[in-house]
Amino acid sequence: MSEIENIALENENFFNLGNDYFSLKGYRCFTGVDVVNLTPGKMRQTLKIQADKQNELHYAFSGSNGLCRTTPMGSVRKENLLSELISLPNDIDSLRCFFEENGFLFPISETEYEEIDIYSLTEIVNHIKATVLLMSEIEEPQRNYEKILYLTLYLLLSEQVSIKLSSMNKAYSTCHHGFIKILEKASSVPAIDGTKEGFESDTYLIKDLVYKSNYALNIEEYQDIISGSSLTHNYPGMSDLRYKDIVYLYRNAPNETPAARITIDFLFHLMKKIGIVNKVSFENGIEFYDKPALEKFDDNLKQALITVAKIVLNEEINSNLSGIVPRFIASKMEPSWKASNLLSAMYFSIFYMRPGSEIYRECANPACNNHFLVKTSNGRKRYCCPSCRNATAQRNHRKKIKKMSVK
Ligand SMILES: [Zn+2]
Repeated sequence: MSEIENIALENENFFNLGNDYFSLKGYRCFTGVDVVNLTPGKMRQTLKIQADKQNELHYAFSGSNGLCRTTPMGSVRKENLLSELISLPNDIDSLRCFFEENGFLFPISETEYEEIDIYSLTEIVNHIKATVLLMSEIEEPQRNYEKILYLTLYLLLSEQVSIKLSSMNKAYSTCHHGFIKILEKASSVPAIDGTKEGFESDTYLIKDLVYKSNYALNIEEYQDIISGSSLTHNYPGMSDLRYKDIVYLYRNAPNETPAARITIDFLFHLMKKIGIVNKVSFENGIEFYDKPALEKFDDNLKQALITVAKIVLNEEINSNLSGIVPRFIASKMEPSWKASNLLSAMYFSIFYMRPGSEIYRECANPACNNHFLVKTSNGRKRYCCPSCRNATAQRNHRKKIKKMSVK
């Protein structure tokens, strides 16, 4: 193939929609759901999916419309796919509709039904949702710290999932955060000798980034947590293995990177003060071992949480941008980007979000799932559309009437 042809071909793949160039091709797809019964009461759901070669899809990215579906010539068919994806309710039928209409996250076979584990797929989509919601919530004029905490811990602590399709050289996995790599190796970090400190005092002094002074760690409590006994201290979740590793790192890993250190210090104080975290899921939020003391979530913890949330977002987005490469279109003498799949394209549009000026806000109508773009400075717009505002106003009015009639 000659160089001229090469350039001509490349031109076909790139469309100009605004300030930014970006493009990708895909296909609509056929889907089905298989249920495998593993043991009585336990089943696994699998999504079957195959590309519909007759129905080609084109995507493009622009600064003003976000990630769009376009015609082959580049005019917009459907705006802002990211906002549609994060507004989907958490059920498999909504996901199937989205993929059938807008194409799958990765290239799929056109000759056979490929299998994808539905739990892993849902988690991958939940990571996209959590990333966008967290970015937006941080910029809200009135931050909801409970929501920021849950989204941050979900992205950071939920189990890594992977999917592998025939088109992929290696499996796609959700982000493996730097802090998790450190946590996994906690047991190989050598313990600091505390003999001298133990003679002179009943606490270890820890240089602390959350409270910005030395923290006095009770030695007896520390030893109980690390040894898994409860000689002097006993509280719900004390024997949790993640808690043990965090406390161990808090004491023994003073020379970790600042990003790791603030995460360790934050999680230590969160679990010590508010409550020990058992599980975090996108659907159910944070499960603590005991009723959390949320009233103790002070300004230092809030400030540290924002720092940790930004570290988590940074890693989450960057690890998902690896499928995007910059290209130069010689014929137009202009820069461009090439995405290898729709998932990378979704993260690309997150990467280009301008959370300082525009954020996604969840519609305040409880019956609506929509997330709409709103100016960050606009604290008042709470509904996606007038009918959602009216529906909620009517419901509140009915509630008031009910209350009054009970009296
Ligand atoms: Zn709405």
